[in-house]
Amino acid sequence: MKRRQFLQGAGAATLAAGTLVSATAKAAPEHKWKMVTTWPKNFPGLGTGANYLAEMIGKLSNGRIEVKVYGAGELVGALECFDAVSRGTAELGHGAGYYWKGKSRAAQFFAAVPFGLTAQEMNSWLYHGGGMELWEEVYAPFGLVPGAAGNTGVQMGGWFNKEINSVSDLEGLKMRIPGLGGEVLKRAGGTPVLLPGGEIFPSLQSGAIDATEWVGPYNDLAFGLHKAAKFYYYPGWHEPGTTLECFINKEALEGLPEELQLIVRNAIRIANQDMLADFTAKNNHALEQLVNEQNVELRRFPDDVLIKLRELSDEVVAEEAAQDEITKKVFDSFVKFRDQAKKWHAVSEQAYLNARTL
Ligand code: CA
Repeated sequence: MKRRQFLQGAGAATLAAGTLVSATAKAAPEHKWKMVTTWPKNFPGLGTGANYLAEMIGKLSNGRIEVKVYGAGELVGALECFDAVSRGTAELGHGAGYYWKGKSRAAQFFAAVPFGLTAQEMNSWLYHGGGMELWEEVYAPFGLVPGAAGNTGVQMGGWFNKEINSVSDLEGLKMRIPGLGGEVLKRAGGTPVLLPGGEIFPSLQSGAIDATEWVGPYNDLAFGLHKAAKFYYYPGWHEPGTTLECFINKEALEGLPEELQLIVRNAIRIANQDMLADFTAKNNHALEQLVNEQNVELRRFPDDVLIKLRELSDEVVAEEAAQDEITKKVFDSFVKFRDQAKKWHAVSEQAYLNARTL
């Protein structure tokens, strides 16, 4: 009897405490997660996309998961995010697969492939063409679960302080360009440099590099790259639909109840779509500002340069893929999908966009 009274009393106290908490503030989150990112904190499009994802996870879980976002260098350096999430220092990471080519060559195929897939094609390959299953297979040995968490659309060719009038102008060019695009530049006689976002502007301004690619008008304007270079080249042959990623510590994900796991996965999917819409809406406005207000000289790469870069890209990508079994498997799937998409888009997207500008 005494025990029963005690239990009733305890129950009432718990209820009272619960009522008090819900009347004054949200219950404390059940899961306090960290998200490390490869972007400068709040960087337009990429950093804000990471913030949006963190907020979405919080909202959809009704506050049960709280995600604190760290900009590059706040908790770990930009290029340390993959390892940090792999070992559980943070539960989530936000970046791009090509930063991890030292971990797995195949990772690059889930970010950007020179003359590869557009944003629409990437999402189709990942969600409905077998790409996602392959990505999960590639990240599994690192204890990570990947997700497509944003897309920039077609990027710009980049900012140059040297004119590119012919293939020979690529020789000796020192350019910040990551991943497979960097390998293509090397094959063309240039020197690719891997730099995280925060180091690009000072390197270009000081002349430590001759050129840099970054993203597109919206990001590039915010970064002030037009203040450090003369020419703005297009198109971004090396990044035709760069996919950003959110990688999750597998143990942390699997430690969540099933409904929260679904919320995390679906928040990533929402963020993926939202970022592309954000970029598409803002790039044209930023391009106008760059050309009309900042007097940036917009230049298209000459045809022979693009043809050469495409030939070298096909070589580099195929050679890269031949280096190990898993990369070859990803490459085969990617190329098969691209060939199909090329034929379909020749009579749909491409034909329509051409018709619109006749
Ligand atoms: Ca880029």
